Amino acid sequence: GGTAAIPGGFGTGKTVSQHQLAKWSDADIVVYVGCGERGNEMAEVLKEFPELEDPRHNVPLMQRTVLIGNTSNMPVAAREASVYTGITLAEYFRDMGYGVALMADSTSRWAEAMREISGRLEEMPGERGFPAYLGRRLADFYERAGRVVTLSGKEGSISVVGAVSPGGGDFSEPVTQNTLRITKCFWALDSALAQRRHFPAINWLTSYSLYIEQLSDWYAEEGGNWKDLRTRSLQLLQRERELQEIVQLVGPDALPEGERLLLECTRMIREDFLQQFAYDEVDTYCPLDKQVRMLQIILHFYDEARKSIQAGRGVDEIREMAVRTEIARMKLIPPDRFAGEADKIEGMIEDEATKLREGGTS
Ligand code: ADP
Ligand code: MG
Repeated sequence: GGTAAIPGGFGTGKTVSQHQLAKWSDADIVVYVGCGERGNEMAEVLKEFPELEDPRHNVPLMQRTVLIGNTSNMPVAAREASVYTGITLAEYFRDMGYGVALMADSTSRWAEAMREISGRLEEMPGERGFPAYLGRRLADFYERAGRVVTLSGKEGSISVVGAVSPGGGDFSEPVTQNTLRITKCFWALDSALAQRRHFPAINWLTSYSLYIEQLSDWYAEEGGNWKDLRTRSLQLLQRERELQEIVQLVGPDALPEGERLLLECTRMIREDFLQQFAYDEVDTYCPLDKQVRMLQIILHFYDEARKSIQAGRGVDEIREMAVRTEIARMKLIPPDRFAGEADKIEGMIEDEATKLREGGTS
């Protein structure tokens, strides 16, 4: 029943992220509004979804998906209507007691349609030519998300995920700013990450969710110590940013071993955990229990490696540990085989770290 925004410049992965959510989210019904974007993307969804199997019900994914197509070559009035059509259909299913996920790609094209219509009506333009009521229209739309008890006593919900495509990736423009004020979850797509092929290019330091507290009971039940792992990883990544500034000034060799190890470990968090390749059969979806275990393993590795540093070993030796390759390959292990493999990796970490501390290199 929440709201999220995915803003990002051209080619940062808004569409891929929304397709992934449409395919893998836990919703009963998915409403996908293609608003003013390329026609071939819509055609791709139309072609791909009937071939994909719904992971939960073993029927084509298409049977629980509603597609609303308004591509860039279609009339602007229809574009303005497409978002309303989507959310109204979502409400229809919500009132039947379903959990509905609505994706809108992109709300910027929708705002531009509003601007065009407003101009022709000779209304007074506001910031960057958008109508003065832009903020209210966006709020009216996102406000329709939420969780309800229907008249028949069932529980239904609508969650809305809106893509925003600010020109030149400039998040200070009015559509992004107004959307940020309303939505409670923010996935900031970063052009620099996308250029480095770090996908999904979600910037871990600028993105946030205001649902963390509300969800903490659920996480405690479903994901064990997920919340602590998340907090600790974020702290490490934050520290990485500070250290990177120092490294840029004086070079990596000036850092003490403990801090060089931290940089090594955050690299593992970024590359082995945060990066997720949408087109790999296994990596495309990662269940919560696997995510928790993966992060546990990386942080366990860090703790063991820290002990070795304290015992006088160097980061270069830690980098050579064979278990590093196993950790990098974790994400490609299918979920049904993962628990067993994870135990083996944990064992390997202990063995190698102990051996290293006792003097011999592994
Ligand atoms: P946008 O909609 O923001 O313009 P797209 O969603 O079309 O960008 O993504 C652009 C390209 O980035 C894709 O064609 C794909 O190659 C790559 N990409 C984005 N997200 C991922 C991902 N999770 N895994 C792999 N590749 C991705
Ligand atoms: Mg796109």
